[in-house]
Amino acid sequence: MGDRMPNSSLRRSAWPRFLRGPGQRLVGVFALFILLPGAFLGVFALRVLRQESQLARQRTRESLERTAEEIGRDLDTEFRRWNDAVRSAASLERPLDVNSFPEIVGQVFSEPGGGVFLSISDKRLEVFPPGALLYVSRSPAPAQTAPSRPPAGLAEAESLEIARKNYPRAIRAYRNLLDSAAAGSQPLILQRLARTLRKAGRLEEAAGAYRDLRRLGAVWIGGLPSDLIAQAELCSLASERGDTADLAQEAMAFYRDLAMGKWLLDKPRYLYYSDLGRTWCRDSRVEAGEFNSLRATERRRLALSRAAEDFLNDPRTVLPGEDIAYLAFRNTDPFAAVLVSADVLGSRWRPRIFSTRGEDLEAVLYAADGSAVFGSSPPATPPFAVTRDLRIDDTPWLLQIWPGRPEAIYADIRQKRTLSLTMLGFVTVLLAFGSYLTVRIVRRELEIARLRADFVSTVSHEFRSPLTGIRQLGGMLLDGRVTDPEKQRGYFKMIVQESDRLSRLVENILDFSRMEEGRREYRFEPLDPSPWLRTLVADFVTEIAANGAAVEADIQDGLPPISADKEALGSAVRNLLDNAVKYSPGSKTVWLDASAEGDVVKISVRDKGVGISELDRKRIFDRFYRAEGEISKRIKGAGLGLSLVKHVVTAHGGTVECQSRVGEGSIFTIRLPAVPVRGGE
Ligand code: ADP
Repeated sequence: MGDRMPNSSLRRSAWPRFLRGPGQRLVGVFALFILLPGAFLGVFALRVLRQESQLARQRTRESLERTAEEIGRDLDTEFRRWNDAVRSAASLERPLDVNSFPEIVGQVFSEPGGGVFLSISDKRLEVFPPGALLYVSRSPAPAQTAPSRPPAGLAEAESLEIARKNYPRAIRAYRNLLDSAAAGSQPLILQRLARTLRKAGRLEEAAGAYRDLRRLGAVWIGGLPSDLIAQAELCSLASERGDTADLAQEAMAFYRDLAMGKWLLDKPRYLYYSDLGRTWCRDSRVEAGEFNSLRATERRRLALSRAAEDFLNDPRTVLPGEDIAYLAFRNTDPFAAVLVSADVLGSRWRPRIFSTRGEDLEAVLYAADGSAVFGSSPPATPPFAVTRDLRIDDTPWLLQIWPGRPEAIYADIRQKRTLSLTMLGFVTVLLAFGSYLTVRIVRRELEIARLRADFVSTVSHEFRSPLTGIRQLGGMLLDGRVTDPEKQRGYFKMIVQESDRLSRLVENILDFSRMEEGRREYRFEPLDPSPWLRTLVADFVTEIAANGAAVEADIQDGLPPISADKEALGSAVRNLLDNAVKYSPGSKTVWLDASAEGDVVKISVRDKGVGISELDRKRIFDRFYRAEGEISKRIKGAGLGLSLVKHVVTAHGGTVECQSRVGEGSIFTIRLPAVPVRGGE
């Protein structure tokens, strides 16, 4: 064995022991077929993961593109519907009635500023519903007709009033005219009368006359409806009188009529009277709530009126406004158009066109001039935004859509990635753990293989020396070279001892192989430990006496009985004694103590030998294990004894432990449970 050492220690410096020989190959195979593919798979998986998230983004974009296309188609259909509706509205019977309009058109009329139907026939503009517009730039078609022929005598009365400034006479003239005039001429005369009364300073009477004028059916006088004149004058009178309460009432009524579109005036007149009305309202501190809501309504109608004005000057599809854009759908012959506020249109379309494609879809439709017609343009390009050029009804549009909650998409991508990464991590950990286990197991097996090889050589060695002894002694006796009977006896004794050693070794090996194969059987019987141990020690002492070794035994009397396989337990204790003697090259005495500790019988074998390092102590009970170090190497052994001891003691339900200090000695202690003795036995 000694001749193998230098060689192996040389190689140890290059490779750890378990990697040598087959180990090295194994590591190579392991790296090639497990680690390399594992690393490759890991890199591949990470790439796939990155591609996966790119793919998810692309899928989102593609789905948005499809949605944009669908929205485009829907808008196209919607525009067609409107064009059809306008076509059929163009040929409606007169007078117009809201119920005869196609439903989609009729609906937009209900909101102030929502929409208006315009038609031109015989160069006259018709607006529906009445009141939808507050003014028009071209001359409106007043439904009311001014008196075609001034009543006789009016010129005379007017000359009294204007040229001669003889108000009392003028008043009388007007009053006379009023009594005799036809109903159609009455508003005109009443207006003149009221005016003259006012000039004459008869304010109360003037107010009365204006009130009468207001009550009469309206006719147009000098480009203004007579009731508008009456209401404005009543306000003016109240203001002149300083009668705030009256002014508040009159001003509010006046402004309400204006804002609700009672009169379709031309633009300068409307703006003038609207301004006047608001000034009176503010002067007389009318109720703010109603005034503000009227003001808002008026603004919407003004916006629509402006859009209509733009449209009539230059008919086109999109009419961008200050706040709201308007869309115009028109029919050429007869000329008719519907102007719809994008707001109203959007609020009707949105639910159908946009929201059906997912609650969180945002969209903006830009007109060719870049103004946002539906929806409001985002401050910055939102993530995943998709833009698409649309051509609807010969008009270019730009549609931009994007997911309202991109976080949800990001979260989804993240979640998938986390899941994949977790799985990858899990597989990696599993692979690492498997690799670790494999390396450990392989390492152990290699170690055992090595130990087994050592074992064979050691065992052969162990066999050789007793065999050589027996052969030499036997030979000498056979040759008759030894004649002294005393010497002969001595030689025979030595032959018996050597054979005993051999048979113990064979016994150990057989026990071990049975133990390895799980065939080791024990025959338990009640055993009185004290006398048994004494006999065992006495036998052992005789066997080793020749070496000059001694055992000092301290065995308590009357130890509790145990249940044991005498043979097996005997060989275990003997192994401990053997080791104690073997590993005490300096001191020839070893000690055996046996005592009771409660229900436990304790057998300790103690020596003052070489001792065992802490590292070795952990493994000396392993099969084939032999402590490292020169002393152990010099002392022969197969590394089986202690593993047999452990097996036997464990089979007896006991424990074995070792305490030791290098250079001071060791104590091996066996603890066995005592068994209650059954009566009679
Ligand atoms: P071996 O045949 O080598 O003695 P064992 O299984 O009996 O095999 O012992 C295993 C190892 O434990 C030994 O090689 C030795 O290093 C160590 N050993 C066992 N008993 C003692 C002891 N009493 N003193 C020192 N070392 C011991």
